[in-house]
Amino acid sequence: MQADTLIAGATLVTVDATRRVIADGALAIDADRIVAVGPAAEIVPAVQARQVIDGRRFVVTPGFINGHVHITEALFKGFMPEHLGFDESVWRWAVPLHQGQTAAEQALGARMSALAMLRTGTTCFLEAGTVLALDAVMEALHQTGIRARVGRWVLDRAFAPGDDQGAMTDAALALLRDELDRYPGHDGQRIAAWPLLIGHNTATDALWQGARRLADAHGAGISAHMSPAPGDADWYLANTGRRPVEHLARLGVLGPGLSLTHMVHADAAEIALLAETGTNVIHCPSAALKGGYGTTRTGRFPEMAEAGINLLLGTDGADTADLMRPMTLMAGLFKDARCDTAVFPARRALEMATVNAARALRLDSQIGSLAVGKKADLVLHDTERPEWRPLLNPVDQLVWCAGGGGVHSVWVDGQRVVEDYRCTTIDEAALYEEIQQAAEAYVRRSGLPPVVPWPVP
Ligand SMILES: [Zn+2]
Repeated sequence: MQADTLIAGATLVTVDATRRVIADGALAIDADRIVAVGPAAEIVPAVQARQVIDGRRFVVTPGFINGHVHITEALFKGFMPEHLGFDESVWRWAVPLHQGQTAAEQALGARMSALAMLRTGTTCFLEAGTVLALDAVMEALHQTGIRARVGRWVLDRAFAPGDDQGAMTDAALALLRDELDRYPGHDGQRIAAWPLLIGHNTATDALWQGARRLADAHGAGISAHMSPAPGDADWYLANTGRRPVEHLARLGVLGPGLSLTHMVHADAAEIALLAETGTNVIHCPSAALKGGYGTTRTGRFPEMAEAGINLLLGTDGADTADLMRPMTLMAGLFKDARCDTAVFPARRALEMATVNAARALRLDSQIGSLAVGKKADLVLHDTERPEWRPLLNPVDQLVWCAGGGGVHSVWVDGQRVVEDYRCTTIDEAALYEEIQQAAEAYVRRSGLPPVVPWPVP
């Protein structure tokens, strides 16, 4: 068999249908696909490769998939103070900081986020639906080599007295139709648009249902924020007489094509509806901790897993793009909250970041595991580092000991986008310089006060 690249002698954590871990394994890539995976003794003699990589130093995993990330927040990473309440953090800080960006700034943030993800082993992401300059962002992402589903900032609820509700809904639906037409994803495209709603209470019933129809017609999915704090349930109860998920069920928009982000405040009836309909839930543990959402006190993620809900992980804000940190948190938070070490084993956290996420992104036939015929989206974790030695239990060590800092090489779609700790598609030094200058100018322009706990001379 001919191949472009053969990685021989590596430890393979395949996350395939039987969850094989192969100690002395080999994997071959040809063009954009994985063409062989198995024990080195079987694969190496059968493959003629143009490039052979000695894999003895590496643990190989599928590329990680971030289920929820605001890529344009990279321009103001670390700027928002941590002590804010939910409403102040969203309305006084996050929304103006998102909406004040130029197209060039959005593209810059997108590139920075893509770099931060690729360098820590994330090969694909679902954006949070807060992009404004879609064309500039899509172009920037395209050049980085990452795989993504991205959507524009879409909401339609008329809150102000003079707002024309019908016109706002029409405009929102037109925006969705336009992005799906121009950036289709049904044909294996690496980068595509999805109808991503801001969610909470910002979408009318007509927008929810319209987005669902458009997603179905384009083979896409929807995502939306819901219930990080109790406010969403309060609003839905007051305005519809039902909790958010019950209301969405009546609209007919639940299902495998919908991913709800957060769901920290979900009750038993909502969990039953999510499970029954195959709706995906995305948990962002780092954001929940920083935002004080009450995930360990109120969150019912163990019950969601028990009910069979497809759970995945996101990083949410730009504080960290390293999905290996939420993996560790996911494996730990509920062990502590429930005083039960059996809750969310490390292997479940790894599934959330790979196969579960691939399913929610409707890409499970393409990505999420190391298997013949799948896209070559994979990560080499360098075990010649203190956190990886001794190497005795790759899956547990991946989640409990390692981090994105040990990612040596990454392939997306068969392209080696990270090699020896450097991104091959982005001039890292130039980007750091550019975003530093742009970010300092941007936060000055925002008029928001820098809040630092200790004075910086
Ligand atoms: Zn978010």
